[in-house]
Amino acid sequence: MTTRTPLMAGNWKMNLNHLEAIAHVQKLAFALTDKDYDAVEVAVLPPFTDLRSVQTLVDGDKLKIKYGAQDLSAHDSGAYTGEISGAMLAKLKCAYVTVGHSERRQYHGETDTTCNEKVKAAFRHGLTPILCVGEGLDVRKAGDQVAYTLAQLDGGLKDIPAEQAATIVIAYEPVWAIGTGEVATPEDAQEVCGAVRGRLAEVYSQDVADKIRIQYGGSVKSGNIAAIMAQPDVDGALVGGASLDPEEFVKIVRFRD
Ligand code: PEP
Repeated sequence: MTTRTPLMAGNWKMNLNHLEAIAHVQKLAFALTDKDYDAVEVAVLPPFTDLRSVQTLVDGDKLKIKYGAQDLSAHDSGAYTGEISGAMLAKLKCAYVTVGHSERRQYHGETDTTCNEKVKAAFRHGLTPILCVGEGLDVRKAGDQVAYTLAQLDGGLKDIPAEQAATIVIAYEPVWAIGTGEVATPEDAQEVCGAVRGRLAEVYSQDVADKIRIQYGGSVKSGNIAAIMAQPDVDGALVGGASLDPEEFVKIVRFRD
């Protein structure tokens, strides 16, 4: 049986300047122990402008915390004003990059095709994409959450070979639960995360599907994480608001305690 190390990733969104980022990572570093890192992989996803500061801290102090970006360009370089490439993120030793977060899809018109190009760009530069998928409230009310999410998954993974797919992280984030305080029930999370793993097994193989980590995201807090993590197909969480409080994020990392 494959054992998947849970991944707890803090999506800071557009919060914390580079000085606040340093203080924040220092607090996490001070609190987290080898026992935590043995049980769970911990990552922070700061804004682009914080990444160099976080890298300096992590490198300098040999911290076990991972970090990554919240987006990347589908292009590697060139006349794309305002964009940041996978090559630039790789140079800063980012481990992860989120692709297709619902806020990118909603406010920046990102489609499954864009996401697919970004997933490919991430892999070209050795970054692990965290591909975000999940339905809005109207789709959930219509009971179409599984079909909708699987269509996003198929679109994002188009032409991605099995050996790359085996290393990707999928974040199931029902849009109606993001930043709303409205958390999906553990059963809701399992229904879609289980279906995602089923689709990955169909498209690739059971072996590949068993390797892929599937996170839940949407109003995760220390008070609800244990029940969500108890679901067989949930392998971690993408945490927004609650990750801005280091003490709360550490409690989420220690969901087993
Ligand atoms: C997110 O930003 O991916 C997220 C899940 O946010 P929140 O935890 O605040 O709902």
